Amino acid sequence: MAYKSAVLGFSFLVYSFETYIQYRQHKKLSEKHVPTALSQIVTQETFDKSQSYGRDRSLFLFVSSAYSQLQTAVILGFDLLPALWSSSAHVVSRVFVYVSRIRFGDNTPALTTALTSSPFADPAAVPEIATSLAFTGAFIIANQILSAPLSYYSTFVVEKRHGFNKSTFGTWIGDQVKTLLLAAGLGGPVLAAALWIVQKSGRQFYFYLWGFLLLFQLSMMHIYPNFIQPLFNTLTPLSPTTSLHAKIRALAERASFPMDKVFVVDGSRRSAHSNAYMYGFGNNKRIVLFDTLVEKADEEEVIAVLAHEIGHWKRNHVPVLLTIQQINMFLVFYTFSHFAHHPPLFASFNFPAPTNSTSYPTLIAFLLFSFVLGPWDSVAGLLLNLLSRKNEFEADAYAKSLREGEQLRGALVKLHIENLGNLNPDKWYSTYHYSHPPLVERLEALDKTD
Ligand SMILES: [Zn+2]
Repeated sequence: MAYKSAVLGFSFLVYSFETYIQYRQHKKLSEKHVPTALSQIVTQETFDKSQSYGRDRSLFLFVSSAYSQLQTAVILGFDLLPALWSSSAHVVSRVFVYVSRIRFGDNTPALTTALTSSPFADPAAVPEIATSLAFTGAFIIANQILSAPLSYYSTFVVEKRHGFNKSTFGTWIGDQVKTLLLAAGLGGPVLAAALWIVQKSGRQFYFYLWGFLLLFQLSMMHIYPNFIQPLFNTLTPLSPTTSLHAKIRALAERASFPMDKVFVVDGSRRSAHSNAYMYGFGNNKRIVLFDTLVEKADEEEVIAVLAHEIGHWKRNHVPVLLTIQQINMFLVFYTFSHFAHHPPLFASFNFPAPTNSTSYPTLIAFLLFSFVLGPWDSVAGLLLNLLSRKNEFEADAYAKSLREGEQLRGALVKLHIENLGNLNPDKWYSTYHYSHPPLVERLEALDKTD
């Protein structure tokens, strides 16, 4: 089967569809009149500002999605992946020879022994895991470099023009470098371990691989907020003597929420967009407020936002989502186990057949398989957005049940205006892309008398 043509064809289909709905959205963003449902809530000036920000972001999206579609077409059309794979093996081998020369000295018997006894000396025999790590590293670095101009433009032109960017060039470069170092320090060992598990566990590898990644994901829920987030931001405990802290504690008691600590994070170092979130297991929940939220919303509104967040916890939204993701991941790995040694898949993307002593590289198999899975990813993304919007309504309803409905209403409007959120979304666009319901729909649901 012509897998590659199907993958390329489908990616152009998705690209065309997404560009079409982006165009519909762009037309809505060019409208001059405040929608009737919002005429009591926002001024013409606020509406104009939000439309203008939306149009700038929308133009940026037209360019960035064309750019990434072009990348996909070039990578697949010119068979850059097989080329990158074989160069990775060559580079690993060259590095090995170079390091051995330094270690044992040129033209010594020790060097000859090292070069004849190690598989690393021959590019065709370099162990799969080493080649996979080099391949992934090169792929990530190339991607970071190729996406840097767009990321720069988004931060320092679009966001800046509308007063959101607070990031300096130094912070931005630092973020890029830290992201790369994290990918190497954390992603490298995890990838190596995953490939090792596949090599060692035979036909049922999908089960062990899934178990390993589940454990990794669960530990990341602890590692990310405690060790990774602090690399990018500073979290300061909110003083327990403040009136805001007292109100948060009272809310936690009212909702029987096992609150441990409250932090304020310096989100304003990078962006003026505002937010709040929670993390932690069992009875040690931590609440994190963006400093921008604390500054812009009054205390009653912050409480209403937190009541909404507690609503997510009450309704078990995170465990349910995690379970759905795990079932999906298991099914994906299970299906993948039938494709891992499927010669037509590799042949279609112009990967050479393995020699007698080797098999198809797992990483490449998974990469090609995930291309083939593209249609399912699109459907799953749509379904997850549907579920997420339903969850948002439920969390709002919970806040309302705590008699925070009016305050939440005020907070939603205020934050939406401060963030210049889209006030005039196209129905197709919001159905496809939005993880949160449009403002008007949320206000209508809050207003409903039950
Ligand atoms: Zn929410």
